[in-house]
Amino acid sequence: MGGRVPRARLLIVSATALLAACTSSTTGSGSAPASSAAPSSSSPTPPPSSSAAPAPSSSAAPSSSPVTSASRPHRHRSSPPPPPPSSLPTGPLTVVLNPGHNGGNAAHTAQINRLVPAGYGVRKACDTTGTETNAGYPEHAFTWDVAQRVARILRGHGITVIMTRPDDTGVGPCVDERAAIGNRPGVAAVVSIHADGAPSSGHGFHVNQDSRRPDGATAAVARQSLALGRAEHAALEQTSGLVPSTYIGQDGYYYRDDLAGLNLATRPATFLELGNMRNAGDADLLSSPAGRARIAGAVADGILAFLSR
Ligand code: ZN
Repeated sequence: MGGRVPRARLLIVSATALLAACTSSTTGSGSAPASSAAPSSSSPTPPPSSSAAPAPSSSAAPSSSPVTSASRPHRHRSSPPPPPPSSLPTGPLTVVLNPGHNGGNAAHTAQINRLVPAGYGVRKACDTTGTETNAGYPEHAFTWDVAQRVARILRGHGITVIMTRPDDTGVGPCVDERAAIGNRPGVAAVVSIHADGAPSSGHGFHVNQDSRRPDGATAAVARQSLALGRAEHAALEQTSGLVPSTYIGQDGYYYRDDLAGLNLATRPATFLELGNMRNAGDADLLSSPAGRARIAGAVADGILAFLSR
């Protein structure tokens, strides 16, 4: 819709619209997204086509009422303080955070396997169960916890935060619903929060960038999405405790065209894979409250840097 987004109207949407990256079976074994082919930064190579989701079985739609507030205690952050609120653009700022998966997904396979629009005429599964560490710490719990921490920090800066799901016990919402939340008018940024389930030898974070302009997005918004991804990459590299991925993409960036959250985004959006849950070192960091506080601080720093640019 229309031209570039007036900075004052930008809303920060975290991880909401970009789900579906970490597909995994309901048995809990994670699966890394596609191959590890590393496209050059100058000419991103589209990723392998998305795998078809199981046959649709339309049952009741997953319940999902976005929540606009959180009250989880905030842990001390180990990262440098974010820019002061005065450096942020004036006017209302709204960010959408999209914590991947949901605690009830595994028990409702019919609902999450039904096919929904994923952009460019493709249909994908409503949602997936996500991965987990070898010790059984699930991705949905990790993404929920990190998103709550990020929200707390952002709200401390006067930013309105919208979560794509209200808790960690529900089902869905579907990837297209998450995207729609991120596309609400006035949203300045959308950040999808995930962790990967790749072979244990690899570790580190990667920022998923759309290798083509999202379906329906303006060129200006597409550029802003890339800028948001770069801001997140810089912050994660500096303070998250994670390194740029050693096993996928190129220097912590992975270009692909099969993520509904990115393909459907009409607001600035990025999709983060915050470590490999199957790697022992990353799992230690992701499984500890202190580690998650550190990662969340970096994610928040990236959002604030993007909004302050
Ligand atoms: Zn995931």
